[in-house]
Amino acid sequence: MSLSAEIILRENGLRVTPQRLAVLELFLSHSGFHWSADQIRNQLLPRIPGLARGTTYKVLEEFVRSHICEELPTPEGLFLYGIRLKPHHHFACRKCHRWFDIDVDGVDNIHISSILPGAVIDDIAVTFHGLCRDCRVNESQ
Ligand SMILES: [Zn+2]
Ligand SMILES: [Zn+2]
Repeated sequence: MSLSAEIILRENGLRVTPQRLAVLELFLSHSGFHWSADQIRNQLLPRIPGLARGTTYKVLEEFVRSHICEELPTPEGLFLYGIRLKPHHHFACRKCHRWFDIDVDGVDNIHISSILPGAVIDDIAVTFHGLCRDCRVNESQ
């Protein structure tokens, strides 16, 4: 399945600009990756020379507001961005700091009204922390 970046932008009411296209295409071609704004900018500089940090942040903010992207605060005090066309949870490796998308059944089925009467859930973000397989293998060597 290949989703066109242009279609996604239009469906979310965003004008198609080279910067928005470049950021979105980077995410679409690396699904499951989560990066900081600087990591995103560094990967796009060869394609868009002179891409400003401010522009990168602005595009990411727009994507977060449109729910195209997720913004993940990390224990290291950074923000990571990933594509969020479909809600998902995360596993964060505390050693290599990579974040992996995971689907977990059941976590979403919390009856919030019995815990916080009157409250309604409109978003859910669950993060599991631990060591990924690569880091576990390296640790045991
Ligand atoms: Zn790891
Ligand atoms: Zn994610």
